[in-house]
Amino acid sequence: MESRESPSAVLTEFYTLPQLTNSSLIENGAHIIYMFNESTKYISNAIHFITEGLTKGHLIILIESEEFFNEINKQLIQQGYSEQDLKTITYIDQMRQYSNNKQFEADHSFQSLLKLLKPTIDPYRTTRLWGQVLAKDALLSELRKYECDCDEFMGGENVISVCAYNALFTPSYIQNEMLKVHGYFMTDEQIEKSPFYNKKNLLAMSPSEKARLQNIENENQRLKKKNSRLLKEKAYQQEREQILYEAKRHAENANAMKTTFLSQMSHDLRTPLNIIQGYAQILMLEGSHQRLQKNIQKIFGASNDLLKLIEEILDFSAIEAGKVTINKEPIHLKTFIDNSVSAIFDFNHSDIMIKVDHIDDNLYIEADRLRLTQVITNLLTNAIKYNQPHGEISVFIDFDELREEIKIHVKDTGIGISDSELHLIFDPFYRSETSKSKWKGTGIGLAIVSQLTNKMNGSYGVTSEEGNGSNFWVSFKGFASTQPCLVALQPSATHQHPSTDDLNVLYIEDNQDNIDLMSSMLHIITDIQLTSEMTGKDGYHKAIEMQPDLILLDLHLPDTNGLNVLNDLKTHALTKHIPVIAISAEALESSIDLALEQGCQGYLTKPVNLTELRDVVMHYSNN
Ligand code: ADP
Repeated sequence: MESRESPSAVLTEFYTLPQLTNSSLIENGAHIIYMFNESTKYISNAIHFITEGLTKGHLIILIESEEFFNEINKQLIQQGYSEQDLKTITYIDQMRQYSNNKQFEADHSFQSLLKLLKPTIDPYRTTRLWGQVLAKDALLSELRKYECDCDEFMGGENVISVCAYNALFTPSYIQNEMLKVHGYFMTDEQIEKSPFYNKKNLLAMSPSEKARLQNIENENQRLKKKNSRLLKEKAYQQEREQILYEAKRHAENANAMKTTFLSQMSHDLRTPLNIIQGYAQILMLEGSHQRLQKNIQKIFGASNDLLKLIEEILDFSAIEAGKVTINKEPIHLKTFIDNSVSAIFDFNHSDIMIKVDHIDDNLYIEADRLRLTQVITNLLTNAIKYNQPHGEISVFIDFDELREEIKIHVKDTGIGISDSELHLIFDPFYRSETSKSKWKGTGIGLAIVSQLTNKMNGSYGVTSEEGNGSNFWVSFKGFASTQPCLVALQPSATHQHPSTDDLNVLYIEDNQDNIDLMSSMLHIITDIQLTSEMTGKDGYHKAIEMQPDLILLDLHLPDTNGLNVLNDLKTHALTKHIPVIAISAEALESSIDLALEQGCQGYLTKPVNLTELRDVVMHYSNN
């Protein structure tokens, strides 16, 4: 008693719990606050406290969680204590003592403690009380009242009481106040007198002290409310994020399925188209009756439309699925525009005039050449398609030197677009009411323009007046340079027509119709005799045996993937030098790149274009 009330009876150094409880300082009991951090150290301290009591014949009361109580019991048994010894410990469940299934109440907890303690009080026999207080969510005022009542009751009695608090769940404002109402303060490792303990203050709380506690509590309530609001908001946010994540996953799955479906569909449509177009090309070249020629041209034209449609859909799905790679380079603007316009001229069977305004020779635009061609071609074909009879198209550019930006305009004198539809035409599959009824189309062309332009970090737009034409534009980074043209035009593949009589061609293809067609096409080009095999395995063995000059390889074979055959051919000493041209209905850019990377010298997509096939055959008969 003396030692707790007078801070002058100092502990000169830090003590551990057994050192303190063995010292003469606490002969008349002690009220200890223990803020624990580590449960293993906590349990070991509790065990020390209990075993020391058992040795000294003290009465022991343990108020603890069931989990810790079981652990303490287990360790005591391991240390050699008997069931009988354990029975001498009075155990009370922490929940019953401190919460009574409600929030912590000072009066309830104190009364039940009194019931326990009072009968044990004996001046000749010490009572050891170890209680883990359930302070989580407790009000400071209630906790303080409970601890003050305990402190007052135990003062001078022969009781050593450890009030343990889990530091993790006990806010520091409660920890601070608890230091004022316990004579000793203990952590996992050490114990000392609390420098804040003053018994006089506890007994009579001054109005200012009351007000101070009230303020702390009010502030704490305010923060708790704020915290619970933030937690609710966070939970709501997390829920939204989860919903969005799920939706995104679904959309990605659906997109992937759509891409697979489209590429499969495109492949399947290309196969019969190969036959239609192949024979149409042969018939056109073979020369027949004039009317028949016209009809064949119509078949070829219609199948070409179908092919374009398939290509557009496939392209769009590839862009949407992010499977398009962009390789930007400085492109000589004048040459690029001239080439794009002259390529369009070949397809422009109408009476539309296309004029290109003067473009400075020193301008370069930064874009992916292939994709920019696609963008400008789409704008030019639309400008032809939606023009008036005898209409005009003008292509001109704006160069903003300061912002280093080049804008390419494609302006037509066509049907124009109404204000209400202007913002919709770049959406996938959107077609205006007028165009739907008069022109063929898919509504994908401008969506491709928009997506590719964005991918190349450019911008796009349109101004239009219904009945009076439209002005579409795309804009990219660009600059003027007096350096000689950085990028030369790809030389066009022009070949002489040497003799091909000795060329041995092996075609590995499982479809007899395609083999027959290839044979007829080669026959039109030259007198080559074609050898064919219908499986990858047979084709591979035939190649070793016959040593052809050229191998045409279908990539979809019944027994194995064409790329495996390619790999076998390219690793066998007798065949690795033989050029291989893939012939496939698989037209995805990624599939083409893969085949070329793995060693194909060329890739022809089905339907096979007769001119392209001729170029390939001529090339290899030259070499
Ligand atoms: P499609 O031409 O296959 O319909 P696009 O995506 O290229 O698909 O065009 C979408 C729609 O935008 C067209 O259906 C048409 O209504 C309108 N459009 C596009 N270009 C022009 C143009 N130059 N003049 C008038 N309308 C146009």
